[in-house]
Amino acid sequence: MIENFIESSKYAQNLVSIKSEMLKDIERESLEEKVPIVTREVLKFMIFTAEGIKAQNILEIGTAVGYSGAFLAQIANRNKGQLTTIEIDGERYKRAVKNFEKMDLLNKNKLILGDALEEIPKLNKNEKFDFIFIDASKGQYMKFFQMCWELLNEKGIIFIDNLMFRGLVAENDGNTPKKYRTIVGRLKEFINKLNREHDFVLLPFGDGVGLVRKRLK
Ligand code: SAH
Ligand code: MG
Repeated sequence: MIENFIESSKYAQNLVSIKSEMLKDIERESLEEKVPIVTREVLKFMIFTAEGIKAQNILEIGTAVGYSGAFLAQIANRNKGQLTTIEIDGERYKRAVKNFEKMDLLNKNKLILGDALEEIPKLNKNEKFDFIFIDASKGQYMKFFQMCWELLNEKGIIFIDNLMFRGLVAENDGNTPKKYRTIVGRLKEFINKLNREHDFVLLPFGDGVGLVRKRLK
């Protein structure tokens, strides 16, 4: 058993090196400005998973400034597919566009400005995704998931970040600060539903990662 989980997380994060100077800059800026980008060990695992299934068409809910999206776009483009990513905040969207432009990823991928709850239903229903990364507002996860499920390929994977919300999901309800009670309650409900109804695995690393796939026939 791991007694010191925080140190272990840092250790795992420090093993992951990022080669691109541009991506290192975006990571540093995001951390400085408290844009909640994916942590390195989770990023590495996400890349590992998406590459493993040779993901071609990728969907991301929650672009922020395009950090995780840049890695996903590179995988999709290498596999002759594209990334579609949705961001509700206009400023972040603009920065993501600039970042994608600098990395020469803009013309091969699709960045959408808008509320994912409105934008997902507008996507072409015939265009299925191999890999879907859900990383936007935690209170809406159940809705995002239900919409994304329809768009997932038979062998696709939905990768969900921040499912355990700073560990609060695993704690007694009494320990949850009042302002997080709704979110944590919804996340618990969501996890239970995934666990009952889907082929689902919950990984208590990073901020809690969930993977869901269609049942193998
Ligand atoms: N995936 C990014 C981090 C995303 S942070 C990375 O790892 O680099 C979560 C983002 O989701 C925020 O920028 C927030 O503005 C956005 N967001 C929140 N609710 C949303 C919604 N309903 N539709 C689209 N984006 C949303
Ligand atoms: Mg996240």
